[in-house]
Amino acid sequence: MTIVFGPGGLGGVKEAVNNLEKYHKMGIKACEIEFTYGVYIKEQNAGEIRKAAERLGIRLSIHGHYWINLNSDDEKKIEQSKKRILDCCKIGHLLRVREIVFHPGFYGKKEKEETYQVIKKAILELQEEIKKNKWNVVLCPETTGKVNVFGSVDEILRLVKETKCSFTLDFAHLLARSNGKMSYEEMLKQFESANYIGKEIHCHFSGIVYGDKGEKHHILTPQTELVKLLNVLKKSKINFKIINESPDPVGDSELSVKVWDEMGK
Ligand SMILES: [Zn+2]
Repeated sequence: MTIVFGPGGLGGVKEAVNNLEKYHKMGIKACEIEFTYGVYIKEQNAGEIRKAAERLGIRLSIHGHYWINLNSDDEKKIEQSKKRILDCCKIGHLLRVREIVFHPGFYGKKEKEETYQVIKKAILELQEEIKKNKWNVVLCPETTGKVNVFGSVDEILRLVKETKCSFTLDFAHLLARSNGKMSYEEMLKQFESANYIGKEIHCHFSGIVYGDKGEKHHILTPQTELVKLLNVLKKSKINFKIINESPDPVGDSELSVKVWDEMGK
């Protein structure tokens, strides 16, 4: 099994290739492009970034916009959310990105089951569009950190099962969502035992502060937590790609590479 690490954040178009070079020197082998405030890479710039990433052996993924809510009461907002995801898919295909990560939505006034059905329908529609356009990307709805936001283990696994989408396993979010009660073993077991997953899991991990309602904010990744997680993953036969979203995602990714090296893999 292998574990590769990388930051959430490629930087602006102008510094992207330089950043990838810098990441490569640190032993970083993954990078999630943050389109959290919009798709900022234009089609004409995608080729250059893709080639640099390929040359340096850095696997790219995309994090979609923060303002995505596939369960909005306003039909227009659902359409906007879908468009935001599809814009990521379109540029993602040109960047040869595989994973399109996003937070599916909020429960709002709806019951959990109804929310699930609305989000499932949207994901199936998005997949139709992806297929029609022959974009080589997979939708990876993420396990979320706040209890009032759609994205529990059960919800994400059910989406995977019923829509054949992929997923993002955010260990820090699940720790926060369960107010520290869910262990990394349990999280892994839940996703690993699903026989429909591939040979690699796309993950997020960073330090996190949480309370009764779940996630408060991300912090630098404590080395003790990192070692705890890696000791669990080490026993698995699956490969992992871990994206760090702490306030210093590059520094923490570099640290993760070092820690994993020292653990003898
Ligand atoms: Zn996220």
